[in-house]
Amino acid sequence: MRQSDTPHTGRSEADIAGQSAPLPAKPLLQVRDLTLQYKTPAHLVTATYRVDFDVLRSDRFILLGPSGCGKSTILKAVGGYLQPTEGEIRLKGELVVKPGPDRMMVFQEFDQLLPWKTVRQNVAFPLAATGKLSRKEADEKAMYYLDKVNLTKFADGFPHMLSGGMKQRVAIARGMAMEPDILLMDEPFAALDALTRRRMQDELLALWDETRFTVLFVTHSIPEAIKIGSRILLLSPHPGQVKAELNSVQEGQASAAEVEALANSIHDMLFADRIEEIDRG
Ligand code: ADP
Ligand code: MG
Repeated sequence: MRQSDTPHTGRSEADIAGQSAPLPAKPLLQVRDLTLQYKTPAHLVTATYRVDFDVLRSDRFILLGPSGCGKSTILKAVGGYLQPTEGEIRLKGELVVKPGPDRMMVFQEFDQLLPWKTVRQNVAFPLAATGKLSRKEADEKAMYYLDKVNLTKFADGFPHMLSGGMKQRVAIARGMAMEPDILLMDEPFAALDALTRRRMQDELLALWDETRFTVLFVTHSIPEAIKIGSRILLLSPHPGQVKAELNSVQEGQASAAEVEALANSIHDMLFADRIEEIDRG
């Protein structure tokens, strides 16, 4: 029960029961004051500036912003591939300093699978590499997750035999099979045709309904953010700074007009500065 739901007695029910009120859920991922830079011989590129956000367990958390605002850079930093210039990233309270199997990535590119391994081997390979599972166990788990993305029939095929959408399903199965604390998805459907993209979005939501995994999902598409996300962080253009953090609407619970109103307000928030710039000439 939320505090605001309790009668105005000055005491919560938990106090009355002699217990302290439950603390709010501790964030799974905490990003604080995150400034990320690339140092090239000629330039210092500030990709993000003092970005703050928290991801709770089972969130479908979206980073939304125009191309170049630092979304992929944030994901790389959460993945442990890039160290913050300023600020910090914590997963379950622990500082992120390097990549780990608790954070699995799914990319946009169709070439993220190993072409010389079968679909099943692509999914089983990282599982076996952790050393926690025998080859047989890794294989069984790979088949379990391939079934979840409807690819059982293609388990012994090679990546080149698959369509783009199917390759992305393999990459999702591979990420999920590791049962990471958080799945990091960088525009995973952006290179797909519109119909396949929609189907993949539906499938991802159905998978989430089943397993309630936590996902940090990057997109530059407002409709995709609204559809996939439970929370949406809006980032301003280069260097990326937080513009706003919003709740999305739940699929099937909002009217088309409500979805459109949300899309319009996100668009206005993202591009307000640009319009001012244009107005100023
Ligand atoms: P997004 O994913 O939102 O499109 P990125 O995170 O890829 O944005 O890039 C953010 C900024 O950092 C951009 O200005 C981009 O040019 C720059 N950038 C990205 N990768 C590198 C790199 N390896 N070296 C130098 N600059 C980079
Ligand atoms: Mg990107």
